[in-house]
Amino acid sequence: MILEMSMQQAVPPAAREVLERLEAAGYQANLVGGCVRDLLRGQTPQDWDVCTSALPDQVVEVFGEKQVRLTGLRHGTVTVLAGGRSFEVTTYRVESTYGDNRHPDRVNFTSSLREDLARRDFTINAMALDLRGRLTDPYQGQKDLKAGLIRCVGDPVLRFREDALRILRALRFSARLGFAIHGDTAAAMEAEKGNLAHLSAERVGSEVLGMVTGPGAGETLDRYRAVFLTALPLLAPAADCPQNCPYHYGTVYQHTVDALKYLDRGHAVPQTALAILFHDMGKPATRTTDPQGRDHFYGHAQAGAELCRQAMTALRYPNRLREEVAQLVELHSLQIAPTPAGARRLLNKVGEAQLRRLIEVIRCDTLAHTALARPRLETLEELSRCLDGVLEEASAFTLKQLAVNGRDLKSLGIPPGPRMGGILDALLQEVLAGSPNDRSALLERARQLASN
Ligand code: ATP
Ligand code: MG
Repeated sequence: MILEMSMQQAVPPAAREVLERLEAAGYQANLVGGCVRDLLRGQTPQDWDVCTSALPDQVVEVFGEKQVRLTGLRHGTVTVLAGGRSFEVTTYRVESTYGDNRHPDRVNFTSSLREDLARRDFTINAMALDLRGRLTDPYQGQKDLKAGLIRCVGDPVLRFREDALRILRALRFSARLGFAIHGDTAAAMEAEKGNLAHLSAERVGSEVLGMVTGPGAGETLDRYRAVFLTALPLLAPAADCPQNCPYHYGTVYQHTVDALKYLDRGHAVPQTALAILFHDMGKPATRTTDPQGRDHFYGHAQAGAELCRQAMTALRYPNRLREEVAQLVELHSLQIAPTPAGARRLLNKVGEAQLRRLIEVIRCDTLAHTALARPRLETLEELSRCLDGVLEEASAFTLKQLAVNGRDLKSLGIPPGPRMGGILDALLQEVLAGSPNDRSALLERARQLASN
């Protein structure tokens, strides 16, 4: 099949140049994998991977040592620099036996594009495109792309046994593309999920992040719950945790995946998505049932923040991301004061970026409750309006933004030390409560406070 001209034109000149130079030297060269998939979906690919019949040494010869980087050589990959970008150029290869459910024991090159496509994970990722727009698609990837299906190339049970990471990649592509997983592939994921235990925590962490930030995350984690929970056993207690209370309609896990379904795409950043995933993980451990049979989860947000820290440390997420997510988890059940002063206090506590994320987390959380919780949405909207309003004011939310500083107080005769700190703090509290952040008024007030 020859691709439409408009799609061919979406290939950047530098990528063409890489293909042209390989062809001019007598080798086959194709774009392959994610970029072909994205091109066919009408999306702009992030990166352009090339596969070629040239051996790595030959690729180096074609481009010259100055234009290449050799970091991926063990896998037959040479990075080629062209037009200010880098391209991974990988020699056609077949993979042999897998000893550890993850890494092929050795890499064998081949001169056949079809053999190379056969080792790729899913049909939608096993298509190649050449300079003339000719698509090589031996596994009906295009058909699955149109149908919105993730399907293994070859026997799914064997493919997942070779490399258990593919199980998580299937979930990730499902969540990111909003695709269903073909029946045989889904059954094989379920059957082979035990091998997920062999994956490194870091890989699990990055795949989970890719999943939860995808637009279809809620649906994917809902449908393939057992597989997902095998990858993330720390969340498994939530799957069995009932919530007998009028504000809820399902288990903690059901509530969590439903909350993810409401996540606004503009807010699908790691902090917000992970906070929703982890927000109620403190519930199983804090659940109590009163004599009327109603469940309570006192302190679950604090307990959850601690468990979230543990989970994110185990998954090797960066410390800063972990702390931001844990803060959102800790604050998700906060009593909201939907007033300008309430918004200023929250700004002082967490800053604007975190506050906007917190509002989104609480919004999604609230939507995944019964209708009884709906009033909280109005409170939240009011808080959002107040937030926009107070950000327009020339106000201060931190000591740094206050119109007076330590030097000003010193010139009033207040010596540096705890007393000065106390006065600055009191001034900030008054500004947070609504007093103007006005220099002369604040100096006057500081004088008063100092004389008391
Ligand atoms: P993304 O948009 O996430 O980068 P991608 O399809 O480009 O998607 P990569 O991880 O960059 O994914 O891999 C590039 C290609 O290599 C895939 O499209 C697939 O053909 C192949 N591939 C990657 N990982 C595996 C794997 N574990 N098993 C088999 N094939 C794989
Ligand atoms: Mg890629």
